Amino acid sequence: MKFEAFGLNETLLGNIAKQGFRKPTDIQYKAIRPILAGDDVLAIAQTGTGKTAAFAIPSVELLMRRRRCEGYTGVRCLIMEPTHELAHQVGEVINLLTQGTGLITVAVYGGVEQDPQIAQLDKGADIVVATPGRLFDLAAQKHLRTTGCEILILDEADHMLDLGFIDDIRQLVRFLPKRRQTLFFSATIDEKIKKLAYSIVVKPVNIRISPKNVVARNVTHSLIKIPMDEKRFFLERIYNENPDTQIIVFVRTRVRAERVLAAMERVGINAVNMHGDKSQKERTQALEKFRHGDSRMLIATDVSARGIDIPAVGYVVNYDVPDVAENYVHRVGRTGRGMDKGFAITFCAPEESDYLKAVEEYIGGPINVIEIDKATHEETLDFSEDNVDDWQSLIDEEIAREEGRSKKKRR
Ligand code: ADP
Ligand code: MG
Repeated sequence: MKFEAFGLNETLLGNIAKQGFRKPTDIQYKAIRPILAGDDVLAIAQTGTGKTAAFAIPSVELLMRRRRCEGYTGVRCLIMEPTHELAHQVGEVINLLTQGTGLITVAVYGGVEQDPQIAQLDKGADIVVATPGRLFDLAAQKHLRTTGCEILILDEADHMLDLGFIDDIRQLVRFLPKRRQTLFFSATIDEKIKKLAYSIVVKPVNIRISPKNVVARNVTHSLIKIPMDEKRFFLERIYNENPDTQIIVFVRTRVRAERVLAAMERVGINAVNMHGDKSQKERTQALEKFRHGDSRMLIATDVSARGIDIPAVGYVVNYDVPDVAENYVHRVGRTGRGMDKGFAITFCAPEESDYLKAVEEYIGGPINVIEIDKATHEETLDFSEDNVDDWQSLIDEEIAREEGRSKKKRR
């Protein structure tokens, strides 16, 4: 089935083709029709399945079909995102989809100056992609009207709840017209999310894509068992053996993100990192460098990387086993986006076996273990650019750090 079958506007179809989308993904196939019909939708589909386009395409189509109400200058479609990066990213996708349609899109999020956002809003934006904080700021300053909002979209709702935005969302809904269409998108679902969803949608169409198959089919994921202090040598090796691939490396804490970056820099690898201690500007810069291929390795904590779409990632390395089992799925979902194939590998040290058990329980089975024979093991350590003479001191450093970490656990 093709996008043409939905009876979409020609300009929109052209914009979809320009993004290289040939046919709808599962979630798009199931969500686009009910949204076009005006139904509320509650959609659950894992990361990387194409949820953005699943709500964006039909919403753009609806906004084009219906004209803006006379005299109303406010927003017609409001898309809520949990993080600055996601608001920016989804804003870009919508910008591409609305080219030549006359619809105006503005992304509104914190961490950057608000004046340019205000200037754009004052022009009369049809679609606003926003994080809760900045949205409320601008609404309080009367730069944003929502009384005629036709469509409300909650994207990455599970992450939104994790970050504590539930009251913000409840409050927001009070400023929107009762007669509106609400679309609720999430990667996972539990009782809390369900409760929130049902408090804002009306008789929704429920869509759920492969709830059992938590890791996408096009991702090959495996595991190697190695000691903590040897992980960096294996990371170096993966980097060197995959010269054409972008690699995302996940670590558990901010401190680890800095440490692994330093270890990679020591062996001449041009890596960037992203974590909660970095400013918005630093994070955007790191991400841009990685996106454009100026750096092939991005080292990130779970929270900083959630939901971000970087198309060229062929490899995910779980440098640390996640301490929240569900994060395994989010991490691995960074590769094999859309229709591409991807690889994920997890480094598991003996002291992480409990975390691993939880992950395997969550995904419903063991992860395939790659046995490291003695020769491979030695080769990996021998070929490292790192000064191996100084090995013991590095191990000591690592141990000291690990101890420091367990005392002061931050993410
Ligand atoms: P999700 O929100 O479900 O995690 P995204 O909407 O960010 O996923 O999409 C993941 C990736 O899949 C993006 O790179 C996007 O461009 C790509 N994609 C989405 N829809 C299609 C499609 N129909 N065909 C090919 N690629 C697609
Ligand atoms: Mg998404």
